Amino acid sequence: MSVTRLNILMLAGLALMISSCFPTEELNVPVKQVDEGNLTDLDIYINNNFLEEFNMAIRYKYEDRFVDPNEKAIPPRLSAVMPMLDFIQDYWIDPYLEVNNGEVFFRNHVPAEIVFLGGPIYNVDGTLTLGTADAGARITFTDVNSVNPDDEEWRDLQLNVVYHEFSHIVHQRYKLPSGFETISPNGYSGPGSWYTLTDEEALQRGFVTPYATLNPNEDFAETVAFYLFDSEFAEKFTIAETNCQSNDCENRNIGRSLIRQKVSAISNHYEKVTGINLESLRNIIQAKL
Ligand SMILES: [Zn+2]
Repeated sequence: MSVTRLNILMLAGLALMISSCFPTEELNVPVKQVDEGNLTDLDIYINNNFLEEFNMAIRYKYEDRFVDPNEKAIPPRLSAVMPMLDFIQDYWIDPYLEVNNGEVFFRNHVPAEIVFLGGPIYNVDGTLTLGTADAGARITFTDVNSVNPDDEEWRDLQLNVVYHEFSHIVHQRYKLPSGFETISPNGYSGPGSWYTLTDEEALQRGFVTPYATLNPNEDFAETVAFYLFDSEFAEKFTIAETNCQSNDCENRNIGRSLIRQKVSAISNHYEKVTGINLESLRNIIQAKL
């Protein structure tokens, strides 16, 4: 799990690299541009249910412009595309449509492009990337060929990616909660060393993952994502252990008190700037898992 986590969490830096590598003219291709000829039933379904409905393009045919030239990726097999569309509809779009004030927020902040890749992205340094997003404009799902909502590890990976990336839009548009950076100011580790931390060390510092220690924006996104998808969030991250017999236990509880402050600040912020009650959204999501 820690290997998977590390791979997922390399996404932000890579995403920046990917987005900066695109020639400008490619970024200027109108999102709504579709090839009118040879539309399959799947393409028509996508056009009706995603492009027309949400102004969200679904890219499932492999096109080089969606990955960095130094990386290798494969397109999803055709039979995996429809189940993946159902997955993002059920676990990402529908919860936002169902929660109070969620539909307006979703429609106004939806990323313009969703990219499906069949497997992970193979990087030149031998690592794998399991999901990426670019500044709220595009979210890339990897390992679509393994689509199986009943496989918890696969499901949690995909939900971590999509909730994390979709939460970045909130601080990008509406800033971080007031004072968020001051809750655990000494815990941040920066770009060169976050991946040397263990989950335990991150928790003791007041963070849900090592990646969250990178900076306050990633801390915000990771906290939102884990709060929404992790059924054991409270046990792991907010409820203090009783009868501590060790310094580690005491320090975990100190970390949990910091995470409680973060969840409270984030929840108040969501309520204020989006009108969405994050706990209600979490309950809707958890009822589907
Ligand atoms: Zn991020």
